[in-house]
Amino acid sequence: MVKKYGLFIGGEFIPGENKEYYPILNPSNKSKLAEVTYGNINDTKKAVDIARETFDKGVWSDLTPQARSNILLKLADLLEKQTNEFAKLESANVGKTIKFAREGDLFLIIDNLRYFATAARNLEGKNFGDYSGLGYSIIKREPLGVVAGIVPWNYPLLLATWKLAPALAAGNSIIIKPASLTPLTLLELCNLAKKAGIPDGVLNVITGPGEIIGTELACNKKIDMISLTGDVETGKKIMEMSSSTLKKVHLELGGKAPMIILDDCDLKTAVEGAVVGSFWNSGQDCTAVTRIFVHESMHDKFVKYMTEKTKTIIIGDQLKESTDMGPLVSSTQRKRVLDYIESGKKEGAKLVCGGKVPENKNLANGYFLTPGIFTEVHSDMRIAKEEIFGPMAVIFKYKNLDETLKIANNVKYGLASSVWGKDINKLLKIASELNFGTVWINDHGILVSEMPHGGFKQSGFGKDLSMYSLEEYTRVKHIYIDKTNVARKPWHWTVYGKKD
Ligand code: NAD
Repeated sequence: MVKKYGLFIGGEFIPGENKEYYPILNPSNKSKLAEVTYGNINDTKKAVDIARETFDKGVWSDLTPQARSNILLKLADLLEKQTNEFAKLESANVGKTIKFAREGDLFLIIDNLRYFATAARNLEGKNFGDYSGLGYSIIKREPLGVVAGIVPWNYPLLLATWKLAPALAAGNSIIIKPASLTPLTLLELCNLAKKAGIPDGVLNVITGPGEIIGTELACNKKIDMISLTGDVETGKKIMEMSSSTLKKVHLELGGKAPMIILDDCDLKTAVEGAVVGSFWNSGQDCTAVTRIFVHESMHDKFVKYMTEKTKTIIIGDQLKESTDMGPLVSSTQRKRVLDYIESGKKEGAKLVCGGKVPENKNLANGYFLTPGIFTEVHSDMRIAKEEIFGPMAVIFKYKNLDETLKIANNVKYGLASSVWGKDINKLLKIASELNFGTVWINDHGILVSEMPHGGFKQSGFGKDLSMYSLEEYTRVKHIYIDKTNVARKPWHWTVYGKKD
C-alpha cells in the first residue's frame, strides 16, 4: 500500500472535494511512490479563505519576530534530523541523484530556513526623521497578507522553501502549489511545520493541475501576492490573470545561461565548470550552462577534453550513491529534449557525444538520456536560443569577444551567466556587460542564502534568497506624526483663508 496524501489546509490533511487521487511515479522505473489529491477550484478557495482568516486574525503576523524566528529554526532542526529521508524522497520523485538531493537541495533548504529565520529579526524600517519641519516620519515594513507560491518540478522543496521561508519570516500566510509531478517532500514538510509550531492555516499546500489551481490563485482577490517559479509562458499567463486584482507579482522564469571562456583561461578549470554546470540535475536547471563560448585558440582541445569527461558520467538508478546522473523527470520532458536534439541535427549542429536513449536494458523503464554535446552551433539555431532543459551542452567557437558578448546577450532570457579567465579587470568589465541577474566569475551555479537570485528580461523580476527576497514579501508603510500640536497648520492657507 502506498501512502495517500490529502490537501494540507488549515493544519490538517483533508481529501479534496472530488476525492480523486493521482499516482506519483519514480521516473527511473515508473513504480508508484504515493497517491496525491487532485484538488479543484473549491479546494483552492477553501485554502485561500483559511489563509486569509488566519492572517486577518494575526495568529502568526502578530507574533514577535523572535517567536516566528524560533519556530522556523525549529523547523530547520526537525528537517535536518530527517535529511536522509527527505533526500531519498526527493531523489526518488524527481530523478535527481541521492548525493545531489542530500548535499545540494537539502543542505541549501536547511540553510535557507535558518537564514530567513534569523533575517526575520533584522527586518527593519528605514527612517525616522523630520523632513517637513512639522512632524516626524517613520518607515515600517509590514507583511503583505496572503501569498500564493507556485513551484516547478526540478527543485520541488528547495523552490518551495525560497517562497515559504521569507513569506513566513515576514509574517504572511501562504498557500503553495507544487508541480503536479513532484509534490511529496513539500507535503511531508507540512507535518514538520505543524510539529515546529507554525499555526494551523498559516502554511497550506494544494496539489493538482497547474492551470486550474494556478488560475484560481492568480485571480482570487483575497491573495495579495503571487510568486511563480516556472516557464516564461506560464509567467505571462500569471501576470495577465493577476492584473484583474492588481496583486503583487514575482516571477522567476527560464534561462539560457552563457559561459564565456576567455583565451587566457585554464583549460581544465573551464572544462570542469562546463561539465558540472551543464549536467547537474540532469541539466534540468534554469541556470545550467547551456551555451559555451570557447575562444578558437583552445576550442578543439576544450571539446576533446569535455567529451572525455562527459563520457565518464555514470547514468543509472538515482538512489545509488555511485550514480552521477538519474533519469529526466518524465517522458514528456525527455521527448522535449529529444526533439531539440533532432532540431539541432537538422539545423546543422554536430552531435559529438550523448543525446541518446541508453541501450542498457536495466534503464529501459526510465526516462534516461545520455549527456550530450553539440558543436558547430550558430546563434540562429533553436538549440542556441531556446531553453532545452535537459543534459545537452552547446558549444560555440569564437574569435571576436565583442561579437560574442552581443550573441550571449541576444536571447530573451537574462537569468545567469559566467565568464572564465585570469585578468580580473577584463573579467569585471565583461561582468558589467552581461545582461543577466547573476554573473559568476570562474565558477558557475554556486548559490548562497545571503545573495540574491533572480532574472532580467523575460527571466522575470523580483529576487529569491537574501534580504532582497525578504523585502519582496513585505510592503512599505509611511507613518507621519505631527509635532506642531496646533489646529491650523502653517500650510493650511494654501487651501483656504490667509497666510498667518
Ligand atoms: P511550468 O511553468 O510548466 O510549471 C511551473 C508551475 O506552474 C507548476 O506548479 C505548474 O503546475 C504551474 N502551472 C502550469 N501552468 C499554469 C497556468 N496556466 N497557470 C498557473 N500555474 C500553472 O514550468 P515547469 O516545466 O514545471 O518548470 C520548468 C521551468 O521553470 C523552466 O522554464 C525553468 O527554467 C523554470 N525555472 C526557473 C527557476 C528560476 O529560479 N528562475 C528555477 C527553476 C525552474
